[in-house]
Amino acid sequence: MDADVIVVGAGPTGTMLASELRLHGVRVMVLEKDTTPSPVARALGLHARSLEILDQRGLLDRFLALGQRYPVGGFFAAIDKSAPEGLDCAHAYVLGIPQTVTDRLLEARAAELGADIRRGGEVAALEQDEAGVTVQLADGACLRACYLVGCDGGRSTVRKRLGVGFPGEPSRVDTLLGEMQLAEPWEAIAPVVGEIRKTEKRFGIRPLEDGAFGVVLPAGGVAQDRATPPTLDEFRRQLTRVAGSDFGAHSPRWLSRFGDGTRLAERYRVGRVLLAGDAAHIHPPVGGQGLNLGVQDAFNLGWKLAAQVRGWAPTGLLDSYEAERRPVAAHVLDHTRAQMHLLSTEPGPQAVRRLLSELMDFDVVNRHLTGKIMAIDIRYDLGDGHPLQGRRLRDIALGSGRLYARMHRGRGVLLDRTDALSTAGWAERVDHLVDTSEALDVSAVLLRPDGHVAWAGDDPHALRAALARWFGAPVPASGTA
Ligand SMILES: Cc1cc2nc3c(=O)[nH]c(=O)nc-3n(C[C@H](O)[C@H](O)[C@H](O)COP(=O)(O)OP(=O)(O)OC[C@H]3O[C@@H](n4cnc5c(N)ncnc54)[C@H](O)[C@@H]3O)c2cc1C
Repeated sequence: MDADVIVVGAGPTGTMLASELRLHGVRVMVLEKDTTPSPVARALGLHARSLEILDQRGLLDRFLALGQRYPVGGFFAAIDKSAPEGLDCAHAYVLGIPQTVTDRLLEARAAELGADIRRGGEVAALEQDEAGVTVQLADGACLRACYLVGCDGGRSTVRKRLGVGFPGEPSRVDTLLGEMQLAEPWEAIAPVVGEIRKTEKRFGIRPLEDGAFGVVLPAGGVAQDRATPPTLDEFRRQLTRVAGSDFGAHSPRWLSRFGDGTRLAERYRVGRVLLAGDAAHIHPPVGGQGLNLGVQDAFNLGWKLAAQVRGWAPTGLLDSYEAERRPVAAHVLDHTRAQMHLLSTEPGPQAVRRLLSELMDFDVVNRHLTGKIMAIDIRYDLGDGHPLQGRRLRDIALGSGRLYARMHRGRGVLLDRTDALSTAGWAERVDHLVDTSEALDVSAVLLRPDGHVAWAGDDPHALRAALARWFGAPVPASGTA
């Protein structure tokens, strides 16, 4: 075998997954077709749950140093409302950071942890058998691993080669995106932008630090060939149509387009091959969730796939990835569809938008919609149990230090206020943290490596059952995992 796991695609999903696998000693090879990182800054921000994830792995400071914090409010369909007070999260802000920087930091982290990242490695075909997966690269070379994960974006070759369906709606509305020089001064441009954005939320121009401008605006139609970038002429034409001037646009750095296609893979796993990130789901960028969703997929999958490779995964653990994450994606697709509708300039949707805007003055409505965007409201269906079961736990101050700082190694954690419980038999996979502070309103919680609550309570028998369900058979004291 050339690796335990081959990850196809070095976007944010692939590199986050590679890092998670490396934390558990899994040999990972990342195959990326592009020889250099993409200059296109698609995502511009990270939401709360992704920030929590970065914090749980000791990465947040690197991102905070290069980003800017913004209030959480105003993200749902760009409806201008402040976020509610007292959100259940230590990172109740949006971190503005271009995707180019996020991609770079995540790739650097994966390399630091020992992932073998091979740029210029385009996967063309794959085949699996009982023992592993063989990929053929575009240059004819073949590589083999025990498992393979397609993190190769919306046009995923892996998904297509697997024959997994990608049902949903095609793009009906295209948007142009690019960075270029504008001859007119920002003082003349800004008022025009402000006026148009009152009704057309898909239009925007923002000055960049180096004097260039980021431009986003509706396209003239839907592109037949999505892989071909738009031309400067197309930008000029559309600027003139929407804003009455092309502001002297020239010297583009890059030009791109995106649609509102909305699709969800029928399956996330076929045998030894799995899908994650945009390869498994696409939706328009309104609400800014695609990258966040992919990183969160990777965080859910990493430790489970590592357990499978290391041979201690309990039955059903790997399949719980699809069972947990596919419904989350279906949900995001749905409320993204709703947001797109609310962005339409037609009178009907505009009226619904005004109505929803009024409803958001009710705290419960605002909290509900904000929780969706931040992805802190997710509760995986882990069966009957304590109300915390299935939810992620916010960071909490412990008697010494804080919870997230104790999760950097990607292991399970038993947070125990009683000092009467035990992880004996699972000590290789779960840290036992005795903390008698009052931070938690429950005797003990068992956290999975992805920070979701596997069990809460004080019954040692129920705890042992939960440990076996999520961390496999107990290992005798002298054994190794
Ligand atoms: C305009 C725009 C704005 C957006 N804004 C936001 C936002 O604010 N917040 C947010 O969360 N999301 C946003 N998104 C979505 C976000 O950009 C994507 O969801 C995210 O990049 C998905 O990450 P990924 O790693 O799954 O896929 P990708 O980033 O697409 O990475 C896939 C990688 O796989 C590689 N690859 C493809 N095929 C092969 C192959 N055959 N062999 C080897 N490598 C291959 C590609 O080169 C690429 O590097 C936005 C998207 C757009 C278009």
